[in-house]
Amino acid sequence: MALPGVKCTVSSCRYWKSGERCEASAIEVNVDGGGTSARASEQTNCHTFQSK
Ligand code: SF4
Repeated sequence: MALPGVKCTVSSCRYWKSGERCEASAIEVNVDGGGTSARASEQTNCHTFQSK
């Protein structure tokens, strides 16, 4: 079952399903490089990602 409200384009992730859906039970999003302060969306990423 897809996570409601999550749109993801990372098709190489094992949790990704067609229609830009994520079928993980939950996701963890962090700041690139560590810390807790991002200034742009490009500085954040999904750490639940697993390659297929
Ligand atoms: S776990 Fe993260 S990268 Fe993988 S499909 Fe879900 S949102 Fe995308």
